[in-house]
Amino acid sequence: MKAPLFHRLALIGMGLIGSSIARAARAQGAARSIIATARSAATRRRVAELGLADQVVETNAAAAEGADLVIVAIPVGACGAVAAEIAPHLTRGTIVSDVGSVKGAILRDMSPHIPAGVHFVPAHPVAGTEKSGPDAGFAELFVERWCILTPPAGTEAAAVERLAAFWHLLGANVETMSAEHHDLVLGITSHLPHLIAYTIVGTADELSQVTRSEVLQFSAGGFRDFTRIAASDPTMWRDVFLANKQAVLEMLGRFNEDLATLTRAIRRGDGETLFKQFSRTRAIRRAIVEIGQDSAAPDFGRSHPELPHLPLPRPYAAEE
Ligand code: NAP
Repeated sequence: MKAPLFHRLALIGMGLIGSSIARAARAQGAARSIIATARSAATRRRVAELGLADQVVETNAAAAEGADLVIVAIPVGACGAVAAEIAPHLTRGTIVSDVGSVKGAILRDMSPHIPAGVHFVPAHPVAGTEKSGPDAGFAELFVERWCILTPPAGTEAAAVERLAAFWHLLGANVETMSAEHHDLVLGITSHLPHLIAYTIVGTADELSQVTRSEVLQFSAGGFRDFTRIAASDPTMWRDVFLANKQAVLEMLGRFNEDLATLTRAIRRGDGETLFKQFSRTRAIRRAIVEIGQDSAAPDFGRSHPELPHLPLPRPYAAEE
């Protein structure tokens, strides 16, 4: 068995992402010991019950003490305060990272607190589900998903490589880019889709001509796929939109222009514009499946019930 990459991994925040890292790191022997903490006593208790870490401690400072890798896995808006809190307890040579879905704000809020001699390598595993909390995590979450590292200029290459090796061990593919570019890319691939899902599910709920029970009953028409995204954690997503304001507003501006084009095509009965657009988007779906980022199984991989074997109703049944 190979030597673990890290001596002591500290996880601050043990929700979906933190607990998945703990499970995967344990399964892969990525760290000699795993120390975990969470804000509430209830989560810390649950983490201990599930046996997700070698030690569960009460404070962020106690978690960071003596760790050579600290990963902060909490909502983006809370990361700056946690960085300030752990700063005096960090050892020279330690790598501090996070998993936040926005990187510019993380850089702005966390880096001023990182002491000299400590490496700051922000990261974003582009993997998740709509579930939250320590029970929702699983070791395979990051397999074949991308983890984007956004080290600030001047970060030691060896620290970046060591964190990349950690994520590789957890099954992820690793890409490095600037925080600014990350926020633009994720603005269109993740943040805007979430905003659209939150909007459409809210709009459907407020319609007066269509009842809520009809919306639920006929949801297989497309609506239910938005509801999965719109069920994502409200705290996390509030923080994402507050933290990635510029990029989201930029993408939203473009989206509104394109929506106006389709609106006009519908109003004018311009089938050619609609057909062209829908053909282009279908090719994008095919490409996502081809590179293994989604299942090619019909209906997004959902299983379907068996066709019931019922007798034909009387007037249509062949006479015996
Ligand atoms: P989660 O399941 O809701 O867990 C959040 C964790 O953060 C919990 O341990 C919670 O503690 C703690 N926490 C919440 N507010 C806090 C605060 N103000 N101060 C300190 N700790 C706090 O969330 P998650 O899905 O793991 O997300 C964590 C991070 O990962 C976020 O930054 C998010 O942007 C990023 N991320 C999420 C996904 C996804 O799909 N979910 C994907 C990639 C990256 P308690 O349990 O004690 O309240």
